[in-house]
Amino acid sequence: MPYSNQFAGKGGHSDIIKNPDVQSFLDNCDPITTPSEEEAKKIVADFMRLGKGCEWMPSHVVASDASPYSEPVNGLFPSTQIGYVKNSLVIIDVNNYDGLKPINSRYVDPFRVAELHRNGDPISFTLPGSNIRYKGAKTVQDGFRRAVYEQLSDLRTSFTNDKTYNVVGTLLAIDDNEVELKKCPSCQHEQLFAFKRNEEVMKCNQCSEDVYITDSLRIHEQISEHGENNSAMTRFMNVVEHLIIASFIRMLGKHNPELLSHMAFIIDGPLAIFGQPAKTHARLMKLYDTVVKFMEEKNLEPPLLLGIQKTGTAVEHAKALGRYIEKGTFRVIDDEYRHKYIAARSEKSENFGHETYYGQDFIYRTDSGKVFVFGLPYPFESKSQSSSEATKSSFASKKIEVDRYYKNLGKAMKVISHFELELYDNAIVPIALAHRHASISLVPGGKVLDILTRKGLKI
Ligand SMILES: [Zn+2]
Repeated sequence: MPYSNQFAGKGGHSDIIKNPDVQSFLDNCDPITTPSEEEAKKIVADFMRLGKGCEWMPSHVVASDASPYSEPVNGLFPSTQIGYVKNSLVIIDVNNYDGLKPINSRYVDPFRVAELHRNGDPISFTLPGSNIRYKGAKTVQDGFRRAVYEQLSDLRTSFTNDKTYNVVGTLLAIDDNEVELKKCPSCQHEQLFAFKRNEEVMKCNQCSEDVYITDSLRIHEQISEHGENNSAMTRFMNVVEHLIIASFIRMLGKHNPELLSHMAFIIDGPLAIFGQPAKTHARLMKLYDTVVKFMEEKNLEPPLLLGIQKTGTAVEHAKALGRYIEKGTFRVIDDEYRHKYIAARSEKSENFGHETYYGQDFIYRTDSGKVFVFGLPYPFESKSQSSSEATKSSFASKKIEVDRYYKNLGKAMKVISHFELELYDNAIVPIALAHRHASISLVPGGKVLDILTRKGLKI
């Protein structure tokens, strides 16, 4: 997704700006205000410094970013849409990167680092949107399901020349090699489908439609025959980005654990899976716990996995507090803090992100004064076996015990401050590079509306 000042300008929204109805509507809106100086000072009093500095640096940093885009197909009705998703992985060799640092500056020109790409070509997906029946499918949804399966099961997401480490291979691996589905996604008939390796497509007894292992991600449920399908593309993009990184880590764990132990992986956004595929978050949490145990058995340090947020309420909050936070300090975002300062309690849960998050968020201000919101995987195999409110709240207190993250916190802060960007707030070089490769086209005029709304609210 783009950085705040990475948009290309396009016109077309000036009529809305002038509309008096819009203006009077905005006059009646109360924005959530930024904290006063006094409040801010009180809030930041809890920020702390990590005991001793961390000297660890990864040998390689892998960063990932993705962009979705849908557009009408030329020559057909405008409602006939195709969706595109591009996912880009950038690998930076840290030693080469350091060689690019100009004397007298702690910042590297990110575009000079471009030659460090090993895998600059984005992985592209093309999916049928509204009014398109892919390969003669009965419905748009059935065609969408097929296209998703074909593209997640072929070699485009594979890191080797077989299918062990593509997205479907990872779906199997994180679910103990058997992925279950309880009803037919086409006719809703109840039937147990148990997908295994080489049995990734089955037939429904009722409607005879093909049912695919990737239907378990449930992204097709958001596909409508005629309406907008952008949110389905975004869900697809989100879950696939997390699964591609997981595939990469699995592959290295098998083929080169020594190298893996010296690597850092950076995902754009929180360590969470939202919407229909959210269930996958629990599998990923278990996978990363397994990776840690596997590496420890080999006497190797586990790799660093980091989710860096560029946008969202937590980032807005952290930026508003920014100048009050002492440089070099951080805090864990516990649920109480989140509900009090970042987002009103929107879900009825004793544990924030219970159905979506597999990592814990932190706020950090670097020594140079930039503020970041980042996530580290929860250091647990699972949240709880039962979903009672009591076990949820016990997880909510376990997940914020900072000692459990000690080592990774030091590494994360080291990597963030090493790669922070001069040009953008809350951005770091590897993700900026990945973004550059993943972006297809920018939302026309979207930025204008954004600015208009903020101006109207007089923030
Ligand atoms: Zn069926």
